[in-house]
Amino acid sequence: MLEGLQIERATTKKVKPEESKLGFGNYYTDHMFIMNYEEGKGWFNPRVIPYQPIVLDPAAKVFHYGQTIFEGLKAYRTKDGRVLLFRPEKNFLRMNRSNERLSVPELDPNKAVEALKQLIQVDQDWIPSEEGNSLYIRPYVIATQAQLGVAPSTEYMFIIIMSPVGAYYPEGVNPVKIYVESDYVRSVKGGVGEAKTAGNYAAGLKAQELAKDKGYTQVLWLDGVHRKYIEEVGSMNVFFKIGGVIHTPALSGSILDGITRNSIIHLLRHWGYEVEERAIEIGELYEASKQGKLEEAFGTGTAAVISPIGELNWQDEVLVINNGKTGELSQKLYDTLTGIQKGELEDPFGWMV
Ligand code: PMP
Repeated sequence: MLEGLQIERATTKKVKPEESKLGFGNYYTDHMFIMNYEEGKGWFNPRVIPYQPIVLDPAAKVFHYGQTIFEGLKAYRTKDGRVLLFRPEKNFLRMNRSNERLSVPELDPNKAVEALKQLIQVDQDWIPSEEGNSLYIRPYVIATQAQLGVAPSTEYMFIIIMSPVGAYYPEGVNPVKIYVESDYVRSVKGGVGEAKTAGNYAAGLKAQELAKDKGYTQVLWLDGVHRKYIEEVGSMNVFFKIGGVIHTPALSGSILDGITRNSIIHLLRHWGYEVEERAIEIGELYEASKQGKLEEAFGTGTAAVISPIGELNWQDEVLVINNGKTGELSQKLYDTLTGIQKGELEDPFGWMV
């Protein structure tokens, strides 16, 4: 039990949605976790309370200067009724790296995991049990000081909310079409691309909308300096299988250090694959494809786990990968990682909590 944690239980419970109608991020559990920060006092008053609106001063810095960070992870219910979290400490360590970049005070990652476990315990009847469904967890910090000077806030709130979500692929893993973005960039080295902060996502919406209008699911981001090195795909990290070797962009300073990315690299190396983390030029993929060496491409992230890429469009040159079908390795990675997450396969790395 987290020291000093107060638990106030909801007196009325919400009606739970049907599991077949969940979708992503549409429903929230009965409770939330919240904790405050004040300069000189540190983090205080950790509490689980009924899910409710938060009241903020209109001058709160988060509204004006975007001083905020967030995380995303999932809890799974196993067939034998246990509740599992996938590498939660990694999320809170990354949260602190984001905090550091956004001048937000850091949190004790162990206490954050403890707080999360308490919240899950209170709301455990919200964890879906149907195949592929899970409980999505969204921890975040907002700057709440009512003060319009451009300076780090002296007050913050750390909040965790949770949302039951449906299977990402109700009809099996499906490849997506991706538009290679040549005008807009997501981030540059020295910017905030490495941090999980709201502004990165707001800044990405425009390109995402334009790609959707052209019939593409997401964009592939190129680097902001040379405009040719591959960074990420939508809000996922990206991998390519070229001539039997797996290639993924190195964490260059403008890419988010994905927990799925890290886990996939571990799994692949464990299976004996060579994995190269390096700068990958977009032109190189087209060249490899012409030589018949581009075998598979896929994105990795908490939401989808593995998202195969069936087609790329770079300056109107279309590249079809693996005939637009899910590759063998992509499927194997998906089955293995989701199997570990659901507690159905052996967990060789001790990832599940
Ligand atoms: N890149 C970005 C920009 C993201 O938002 C995410 C999702 N957190 C990822 C990559 C994948 O990270 P993870 O595997 O930790 O979900």
